[in-house]
Amino acid sequence: MNKILVAAALSATILSSLPASASDETGPTASVSEARMRTDVAKLVSFGTRHTLSSDTDPRRGIGAARRWAADEFRKTSKACGGCFEVVMPEAMVSGTRIPAPVKMVDVVAIQRGTERPNEVVIVEAHIDSRVTDVMDAKSDAPGANDDGSGTALVLEAARALSKRKFAGTIVYAALSGEEQGLYGGKLLADYAKKQGWTVKAVLNNDIVGGTHGSDGLVDDKNVRLFSEGPRADATDKTRADARRFGGENDSPGRNVSRFIAELAGQVQDDFAVRQVWRADRLGRGGDQLPFLEQGNPAVRFSVAIEDYDHQHQDLRTENGVTYGDTIDEMDFAYLAKVTRLNIAALAALAAAPMPPAPRVDAAVKTWTDVTWKPVTGAAAYSVWRRRTDAPSWEAQPLVARTTETSVKLDGLRGDDWILGVRSIATDGSVSPIAAAVPGGGFTPLAQLP
Ligand SMILES: [Zn+2]
Repeated sequence: MNKILVAAALSATILSSLPASASDETGPTASVSEARMRTDVAKLVSFGTRHTLSSDTDPRRGIGAARRWAADEFRKTSKACGGCFEVVMPEAMVSGTRIPAPVKMVDVVAIQRGTERPNEVVIVEAHIDSRVTDVMDAKSDAPGANDDGSGTALVLEAARALSKRKFAGTIVYAALSGEEQGLYGGKLLADYAKKQGWTVKAVLNNDIVGGTHGSDGLVDDKNVRLFSEGPRADATDKTRADARRFGGENDSPGRNVSRFIAELAGQVQDDFAVRQVWRADRLGRGGDQLPFLEQGNPAVRFSVAIEDYDHQHQDLRTENGVTYGDTIDEMDFAYLAKVTRLNIAALAALAAAPMPPAPRVDAAVKTWTDVTWKPVTGAAAYSVWRRRTDAPSWEAQPLVARTTETSVKLDGLRGDDWILGVRSIATDGSVSPIAAAVPGGGFTPLAQLP
């Protein structure tokens, strides 16, 4: 059975709202162009350095010129879709350990408003700033082709692809500043989202997504890593105590966004899978998904399967026959296109879907289990899922495929032995990620709960 038939056969398939398959000729991923992304990365490299402390005003070199170019790209895309984007540039003066004197931090953001629930947003982001060996060196050439020209090109290409469609929820495309100096642009955007009163459904951070070769010769062009947090960053003492007793350490909303995208990957393109990494980021390192997690928003990070340490955060040089530096010739644009298609499919699926419910489970001292939740705006029905407490993934088929009620009684099911979860289903068949009925399993920041 081919991929499309399999997709059609599954109930509540993630891509059910999209035409046949997201990867066919009419799907939103069809227009992804390796050549255009190569041109975009080359353009980003041409600014010499995009260091956060480089010139904001020079017309050709530095972070300012790069940001203005990215904003123009968003405006061009918007013009082609009859003004479907609002381009905004949130800014703040910041200083810190890696910013000795206050500097203006600016994010470049395009907003594609949802037609039905504009307050629900899914964000795709990457950082436009770059660096060399010395993080304070704002003068030397810092091409930042893969880190993170690749992610920035992905964001621009996703905007072009999805601008041709309309979605119930809002999609936000963002090129962030200040990542290398301390995740300032991510914080700026998380604050902006909060100020707008947005309900953040998911944040997809893309940082280093265009390479397949490691410095030791290891190659992998068949996987992309997807990092997600376990215990949620905004956990309260009560959530932590409840989760210690009843479980929940493996069911943060970000973790369930990760499961959702991993499942989706199999429907998007052959021979390209998500390697879920169940930690918030790589060992000893960080990224712009973290400020969103701090505020209680579901956020994940995409990154290459194999990192090349000779070609990131390095001065351009040759030593003992080895070339160092984050240059475009070390990238793999066929791979970047694959990661871009997966992001586009995920954004389309998430923007079409309602928010997940926040289910609760009651199974104390009885032979059945009750699962209850509040109605979700935009949801026409719900499906109920389960997995064993030591199983990594939800079962392949739902326990209850479709109910219009907001509670189910699961006869004969001993709740102690299972993690239960619920997903929303829209009228057009779009499905949300599954939210688990565990302490801290809901998608709302805990600080916003009553
Ligand atoms: Zn980076």
